Order: sequence, then C-alpha cells, then structure tokens
Amino acid sequence: MNETFVQRAYGRVNLIGEHTDYNGGWVLPTAIAQFTEVTLKQRNDKKVILHSSRQREYTYELGQEVPSHDWTDYLKGATKLLHKFTQEKAERFNGFEATIESTIPEGSGLSSSAALEVSFMKAIRLAYHLNVSDVELALIGQRIENEFVGAHVGIMDQMACSLATFHTAVFLDTKNLTYEQIELPYDQMDLLVINSGISHQLFAKGGYNERRAQCEEASKLLGIKLLRDISLPELATKKLPDILMKRARHVVSENERVHLAVKAIKNKDLNSLGQLFIDSHHSMRDDYEVSIPEIDFLVELTLAQSDTFGARLTGGGFGGSIVAITKKGKALEVANSILPLYEKQTKKKATILS
Ligand code: ADP
Ligand code: MG
Repeated sequence: MNETFVQRAYGRVNLIGEHTDYNGGWVLPTAIAQFTEVTLKQRNDKKVILHSSRQREYTYELGQEVPSHDWTDYLKGATKLLHKFTQEKAERFNGFEATIESTIPEGSGLSSSAALEVSFMKAIRLAYHLNVSDVELALIGQRIENEFVGAHVGIMDQMACSLATFHTAVFLDTKNLTYEQIELPYDQMDLLVINSGISHQLFAKGGYNERRAQCEEASKLLGIKLLRDISLPELATKKLPDILMKRARHVVSENERVHLAVKAIKNKDLNSLGQLFIDSHHSMRDDYEVSIPEIDFLVELTLAQSDTFGARLTGGGFGGSIVAITKKGKALEVANSILPLYEKQTKKKATILS
C-alpha cells in the first residue's frame, strides 16, 4: 500500500488546425516541454484525496461525484467515467491519494486540462491494472469536459496529451481517429511558443461553445453532417447568413491549410509553412473572431522579425498563446527582441515556453 505510481502527460501546442476538431476535421499538435505529473497511492476504501500544488486539498468518495464547478470536476469526472468504462469489462478500482504537480500554465491554450485528465487516468490505470488504451483514455477525457465540466471541446487536446511526442507532430483525423506522426524539420527551424499572459479561462467557455453551436447550425443549413464534408469551392456556391458563412469559411479553409502544412513540412518548405500560419491567424482573427488585440500584436511583432517564417494564435483563442516558426537557432533571439515591446505596450507579462 505504500507503493507510489507516477504518470506524466505533456502539454501540447497545435501547429495548425484550430477549431476543426469538433467539426470532424484535421489538427497538427506537438508536445511541449511543460507537463503535469500525478503521483498516486492506493487506499483500501472508496475515498479519493486530491492534492494539487495550485489548489487546496479536496476529498470525495468514489460513486459520489457531483460537479462543483472548479478544478476537481476534471478529476471527479475522470473517476466517474472511468468507473463506468471499466465496470463494463468487470474491472474495478479503489480509492487513492493523488498528488498533482504541473508546469503547464492554466488557460493558456496549451491543454493543462487535458494533461491533468490524462496523467490522472494513466496513474489510476497503472495502479489498478486497468485495461484501457491511450485512445480510450483520450475519448473519456473529452467526455469529462463535455459532460462534467460543460466545455464542448473536440478530441484534439486529449489525443495530443495522450499521443504527442517532441520531434513529431500528430496529423490527426478527428473523425476517424487515425493519425500519422510527422517528423518536424528541426535541422532547419525552431519552434517558438509564447504565452501572452492573458488566460482564456474567464470568458472562453461561452465563446467556445457559441462557435461550436454556430458550426452545427451552418452544417445543418448546408445539409451536411460535419464541416469537414465540404470543400472551399463548394462552400463558395452556397448561401448562409453572413456570420455562419464566416465561421464555416474558417473551418473549411483551416482544414485545407492543415493538409498543405503537412505537405510543406514533408518538403521542408518553411516559407510555405510560415505563410499558412499567417493565413490561419488572419482566418481566426477575421472570420472566426477568436483572437484579441494583445495576441494580434504579439503575432505582428513576431512576424516583423526577419528570422520568423510564420506566427499565429494557437489553441481555442480569447487569450492564450502564440506559436511561431523561426530560422534554426533564432527563436530565443526573436522572443527576446519582442517581449519588452509587448510588455511595454500591453502591461502584460509574456513567457517563452518552447
Ligand atoms: P487549458 O486547458 O487551455 O489550460 P482549460 O480552461 O481547459 O485551459 O483548463 C484549465 C483548468 O484546468 C484550470 O482552471 C483548473 O481548473 C484545471 N487545472 C489544470 N491544471 C491543474 C493543476 N495542476 N491543478 C489543478 N487544476 C488544474
Ligand atoms: Mg483545456
């Protein structure tokens, strides 16, 4: 009983393919160095005791999980849904004490919530020998957010936290859950991730769920199941209310950009990849309307550096982080030239993550 079980999940940065996952589309995330680590000790009863270095201790009983609209919902949702899943296979788990440590900033579009769910469930799986695959854990993680937390997120974050590695990006088809690991040309480029210092936490959920509902409405009016099922030229021949056309145009064009980005990465064509980042940012800013002035400014500053190939808002938006690609060995130089300008203008503290 004194044995401890430790599991980690890394945060992710999405290179391109934003707001496509709940439309059955394609995404391209890669792991970042920041991670969440869960250390678990089994108990003989049904009690779950949670310690997070960022929160106060919390205790609940397995089978008594009720949402309380705070950080514990991610974990109560995990034991509730994991129990349901393992029960069908006649497997079970007991209570435990879990200690959570994380270096992923919260609400920065780098998936601290998915890393929390995934590392927590992996630790329970390890301690209690549960027969559940990484992909099944990712699907349960998505259900936690949808059904327990009330965030209608797609499957990207949990799949990325479950599967992403450092030197590759996961080219994921979110409808079929098939994926290819794409080698990133780190011999020619650096990846730069900067957290704007503005958390999306306070207002993201409303805006995110609204965007999702608009996509569902657009699909219904177009007579298709998912926005992945239509091409850009086809969409251009259709009639939709203005706002829905803008939302649909972002998703459909973004799907196209993910495919083009994979091609550019395979060809080590970093100029084309950079341009796709720029186009993606404009689409998120103008058609999907999920950027904010501070993020636009950070992107502009980054693009003004001659060593930058491309930069864009990454994650769901309304704050969060940017991702950029620079010439090899130049990421820190670029970041160090822009951060003082950003901080002077916005009075926010930005941080370099990757
Ligand atoms: P993101 O996933 O982009 O970081 P979310 O709003 O989806 O943002 O998730 C952030 C929430 O996840 C936090 O508000 C908190 O409730 C929870 N969370 C993430 N990491 C931790 C942690 N280490 N300890 C406690 N709660 C955490
Ligand atoms: Mg999240």
